[in-house]
Amino acid sequence: MSHLDSLNPAQRSAAEHTTGPLLIIAGAGAGKTKTLTHRILNLIKSGIAPEHILAITFTNKAAREMADRVRALLATEASVRHGAKAGEPFVATFHSLGAYILRAEHEATGRGTHFSILDDDDTNRLLKQAIIAQQLDPKQFEPRRLKNAISREKGELLTAETYAARVGNEYFPRIVAGVWKEYERLLVQEKAFDFDDLILHTTLLLSERPDIRAKYQARWTHIHIDEYQDTNVAQYKLSKILGGDQHNICVVGDTDQSIYGWRGADFRNMMIFEEDYPDATVVLLEENYRSTEHILAAANDIIKKNKVRKDKTLFTNKKGGEKISIVSTLDEREEARFIAKTCRDLITQGVSPKDIAILYRANFQSRALEEGLLARDIPYQVLGVKFFNRMEVKHVLAYIRAALNPDATADIARILNVPTRGLGKTTLAKVLAGDEASLPPATKEKVASFRTILADIARAAETYTPSLLIRYTIKQSGLEEMFLKDREEGEERLENAYELVALGSKYDTLPLGEGIATLLSDAALASDQDSLGTHTKKQVDAVRLMTVHASKGLEFPYVFITGMEQDLFPHRGFDGPVRNPEREEEERRLFYVAVTRAEKKVWLSYAHMRTVFGSKNVNTPSEFLMDLDEAYIETAEEIGGDEEDTEQHEGERMIEYL
Ligand code: ATP
Ligand code: MG
Repeated sequence: MSHLDSLNPAQRSAAEHTTGPLLIIAGAGAGKTKTLTHRILNLIKSGIAPEHILAITFTNKAAREMADRVRALLATEASVRHGAKAGEPFVATFHSLGAYILRAEHEATGRGTHFSILDDDDTNRLLKQAIIAQQLDPKQFEPRRLKNAISREKGELLTAETYAARVGNEYFPRIVAGVWKEYERLLVQEKAFDFDDLILHTTLLLSERPDIRAKYQARWTHIHIDEYQDTNVAQYKLSKILGGDQHNICVVGDTDQSIYGWRGADFRNMMIFEEDYPDATVVLLEENYRSTEHILAAANDIIKKNKVRKDKTLFTNKKGGEKISIVSTLDEREEARFIAKTCRDLITQGVSPKDIAILYRANFQSRALEEGLLARDIPYQVLGVKFFNRMEVKHVLAYIRAALNPDATADIARILNVPTRGLGKTTLAKVLAGDEASLPPATKEKVASFRTILADIARAAETYTPSLLIRYTIKQSGLEEMFLKDREEGEERLENAYELVALGSKYDTLPLGEGIATLLSDAALASDQDSLGTHTKKQVDAVRLMTVHASKGLEFPYVFITGMEQDLFPHRGFDGPVRNPEREEEERRLFYVAVTRAEKKVWLSYAHMRTVFGSKNVNTPSEFLMDLDEAYIETAEEIGGDEEDTEQHEGERMIEYL
């Protein structure tokens, strides 16, 4: 029996295709990734050396899974196992591929083999330096904002020079150009690349150096790219270069699952493929193997409302199945309790925790969900950053701790210059050494105004309840203003910060002073436990929590999609009530991605009241729910009344984290 026997005829034709361009288009769960891995195996069996094969995906998790799948397939193939074909295919993300090439070509880049790859914080630090060097005020020109602007351009394959040559006399673009030039100088000086550079510089290097290009084109003769609908200009160009003259390039994707438009991804790259390679073989996959009929019917109904798409409909042979449950709850705590209870029931029935996923549109939602799971002692794992490890949450807590405890040096170090106040390392060292007297007068003044903020917070703590105090701190510290200026991530950070206010309200009934102290220690213990937890064995078989974005490409038997409320999902964000059709369609694609993760059962839950940005909102159910048909939905029983739950509700505090 051949490994190809597990494929349907269309999948098989794609897997058996060995030469020339190949485009595989299919809806969710139609076996795109499966076909791609089988194609790789088939190539190896047909005599292509594994090391000539390259496969690129978007996330580390997806890359790891693909490498595992290929390895597992290879291991089952006796002919390959005993053959003389050494090596393995190169499976990478776009970023890791870039880092690999830049490292190998260090002579050309001049940044050595041990260049650093800057994370978000590092990038901001360096940008701030560049802003100051340009004699600009980082308070006025926020590093984050400039970072987003530059990142966008890098994704479009522009460099500091090409950008400067392109911009006219417009004020902000000129500022960006100036800062960017200085920022690049600093990157070179520090022998560093930022995240976008990994793709940008690799692409430029391969375009400009025929010798280097030839080397990689010879090395990787067969290229595969999964989730191609989410490529931006730079990634598109890189794929094209790697495809070389041989055109042995296979791209796989689903335009309905393009969810990174806000980062410059362009699903039209899928459509351009046929123009770029007129001789491309196109394979359409239409059978979904993942989900039951009801789930798939819902998915089809959701996506067909989008106008900018090619019509395609998926079918499944898994007839019927469980209906989709729509669950209405009072608030986010009840939502979490319902989910935790249902998880507990499933686990009691023998379901593995890891077969359950809880998805949310916005990160801040994870806090209430985590708490609900902890209360029922359900093992869980958060993909991404756990609530208390989030930078913005740490900032807010650091302000409060520093205000209440003048010796909290780690906290002072964290926030002295957040938001930017022009206080650098030297100042910090002196402040920590208690040597503020020797600071230059201007700096002294800045430190003094920082101290004033802390004193204000300390004074507020004498009379305010914990939730009020947190709210006050977010504003008084300048963090709110800082977040509001960051168009890309600011909103999410602010949501998370305000989620602390919601948490704080649970401590409001404790005696003054005791409330905030308990909250601070609970928070410290919770984040500590979080970081330990990820390494314990118990966590591996755990319920998965993640954003819908992070769930792309994955599948789970049981899926909860939470926060199905208007303005949360679809998410409105800074645009407020302004209707932006492109964004709305992307939200709908996101909902399609969420529903199609499920194999057996979907729960869609919404809360009538939810605390967002620290205030209790009354919600209307998501408009997405209106698109679903009676034929495959059912309304879950009224929640609440469960005695155990009620008790928990009253005594509930963060102490449950213990
Ligand atoms: P997504 O759009 O979510 O990335 P996909 O198109 O990449 O989905 P896969 O993840 O490859 O789909 O496959 C979905 C599920 O269907 C997997 O569990 C896979 O093993 C199964 N599957 C795919 N093709 C077949 C087939 N021909 N026979 C049986 N099962 C299949
Ligand atoms: Mg896939």
